[in-house]
Amino acid sequence: MSAYKKMLVAIDLTEEAPQVLNKAKAISSAHGAELMLVHVVEPVGYAYGGDIPMDLTELQDQLDKAAKEQLAKYGDEYGVAKEDQVVTVGRPESEIHRLAKEQDVDLVIVGSHGRKGFQLLLGSTANGVLHGTECDVLAVRIQ
Ligand code: AMP
Repeated sequence: MSAYKKMLVAIDLTEEAPQVLNKAKAISSAHGAELMLVHVVEPVGYAYGGDIPMDLTELQDQLDKAAKEQLAKYGDEYGVAKEDQVVTVGRPESEIHRLAKEQDVDLVIVGSHGRKGFQLLLGSTANGVLHGTECDVLAVRIQ
């Protein structure tokens, strides 16, 4: 019996994303598990705190569109079905928690810029995902 059946990979769309995707692909293939990708677009209003009296809808739509296009490229490259490529808007940790539960995934995979030294801390998003996700979480070390 396979330990993991459905894996959710959190992708930040930086040049580091392939490191996380390569590991996730290898692990999902070894387990014969389904792979799902998620990118969370942060609301532009967060950045401006509502201080600027302007309609940010168009900008938000453009960010969503660009994220979907980039995620689709990764989907093609890594053989992930269209319906398993998810772009949502919100706080990354909260959205990843929500989706992991909603989609009944059994492993969440994130990248981590772990810091060295006596305080072995995970990066902030990886840490936020770990605290609050009910299933296993794998932090892939970013080189
Ligand atoms: P960070 O804490 O920003 O260094 O990000 C660490 C990891 O969290 C990344 O490698 C991704 O796996 C995940 N992550 C960060 N931001 C996002 C995002 N907006 N959407 C999805 N995953 C993210």
